Amino acid sequence: MTEPLLSVEDLYIRFKTYAGTVHAVNGMSFHIHPGEIFGLVGESGCGKSVTGLAVLGMVPYPGEVIAGRILFHGENLLQKNRREMEQIRGGRIAMIFQDPSASLNPVFTVGSQISRIIRHHRRVDRHEARALALAGFEAVGLPDPARIFRAYPHELSGGMQQRVMIAMALASGAELLIADEPTTALDVTIQAQILALLNDLRAAQGVSILLITHDLGVVAETCDRVGVAYAGSIVETGPTAQVLYQMKHPYTRGLLEALPRPSHRGKALQSIPGSVPSGLDLPSGCPFWPRCPEVMDICREQKPLPTRLDEVGHRVACHLYSREGQR
Ligand code: SF4
Repeated sequence: MTEPLLSVEDLYIRFKTYAGTVHAVNGMSFHIHPGEIFGLVGESGCGKSVTGLAVLGMVPYPGEVIAGRILFHGENLLQKNRREMEQIRGGRIAMIFQDPSASLNPVFTVGSQISRIIRHHRRVDRHEARALALAGFEAVGLPDPARIFRAYPHELSGGMQQRVMIAMALASGAELLIADEPTTALDVTIQAQILALLNDLRAAQGVSILLITHDLGVVAETCDRVGVAYAGSIVETGPTAQVLYQMKHPYTRGLLEALPRPSHRGKALQSIPGSVPSGLDLPSGCPFWPRCPEVMDICREQKPLPTRLDEVGHRVACHLYSREGQR
């Protein structure tokens, strides 16, 4: 197996607020190989988006990374200075968000925005930047690239704006694309097209993708591997087929049982009892124990460590599978 392109190792992020310290990320660990699409999935508040921001050195104030490592090509990004991170951000690692219109400046044409980004990260003149931009628009399937180049953001549909954002990310030569709920604001048909595009770009350009989503359907369609996050750490990870069809963690099972399916027609949807714990007041031991139908005494006292279940890298952090839980 190749070396990972990105490894997030035992990451902790907290926010000091007037209400107290919010423990947003609590030992998050995962890795992404070159050319792989990794899905980071979980309910809102599980720490997935702030982890994506941490990779780019963009944790918003008053948040701070207090422990862990983020290795990109083996170098710890948390030790880079501001200037070095500016070069990496938007250059080797790029991010796209749920609402592309919020990321595009409404008063400049799309062409001038993408040209500026390309020239910031590559040593090219205005004409070369334009040519790269047009090639980028073509690569993401935008019709009539010259017209798109001259257009203002409001003249494009949501789906086209998201394609522009992906073109911007890749035109600067990004090796890793962090996509945070990239299709949530789009209608179902356009959503499928954008996911297919991400898949094509991975195949054609070898770009790796960290896909942050709450949607297990999106994961099933797009991701090679997945990590299920709960209360700021990964509770189950592995190849997508293993995690979604041979799930072991009670939380993963609960998420899957909550999905609407044709076979459930006419029946009430299952939901996981209780709610996601607040980062202000996390339970001791396993953070899922107040909601878990299989809770044991040890779960309230000890946080389970990941246990490897097989040779393909399926891991679960649950005392039902840990040595401590078997005693
Ligand atoms: Fe449930 Fe215990 Fe496993 Fe946590 S460790 S998911 S509480 S069985």
